[in-house]
Amino acid sequence: MSINLEAYQQVLSRLKPYEAKLVAVSKTKPAADIEAFYAAGQRIFGENYVQELTEKQAALPADIEWHFIGHLQSNKVKFIAPFVDTIHAVDSLKLLQEISKQAAKHQRIIHCLLQMHIAEEETKFGMDEQELQQLLQAYTTNPAAFSSVRMAGMMGMATNTTNETQIRKEFHQLQQLFGSVKTNYFNNEAYFKELSIGMSSDYAIALEEGSTMVRIGSLLFGERNYSQM
Ligand SMILES: *Cc1c(COP(=O)(O)O)cnc(C)c1O
Repeated sequence: MSINLEAYQQVLSRLKPYEAKLVAVSKTKPAADIEAFYAAGQRIFGENYVQELTEKQAALPADIEWHFIGHLQSNKVKFIAPFVDTIHAVDSLKLLQEISKQAAKHQRIIHCLLQMHIAEEETKFGMDEQELQQLLQAYTTNPAAFSSVRMAGMMGMATNTTNETQIRKEFHQLQQLFGSVKTNYFNNEAYFKELSIGMSSDYAIALEEGSTMVRIGSLLFGERNYSQM
């Protein structure tokens, strides 16, 4: 095991003054590693792959709050709808509709974060502002169609770079957008409050730019080795 419980305590103490939450990103890591953080008190874990998440959920304690943080295909929502707490990467109206439909089947409410494309790389998922406006229009025109989702906030991933100025600028722009979306669409909705930004390499910047939820993997669990999956 290469898990780092010392880093875990350090991250928690850095989050504390901001009252930000930690999503411990356990993708590709064995259940035993999750159990070690669970024993240390961690309850929120983030996963990227549907099958891996459903297998871990079945094997691990029932009070874990599971967050799906990766790109999610609409046809796979049904597999995680019975238990998932929050879906971070909602990037289309179609996906939001499907989440609400599947959550309703299980008489559940699933928290959703709207994923914005803020990085320079073409490959990162997320909406541009026009797509966001279209989604929000559809949502506010017929909120009853989305009664089983709770619009909990927004999410983004900064460019993978060592240029801190660039990262800060991207987080800052998302924080500004988040503020205006809150004012214009969710002013009376206390639950639209989460800004999910920050990973192992950039979470300190994200906290300074208003993060309420950081998603940290390799710092806690060690580097991922995809070839072993
Ligand atoms: C893997 C992943 C993370 C965690 O990345 P680390 O650099 O290991 O902290 C965070 N967010 C998303 C969306 C991820 O896919």
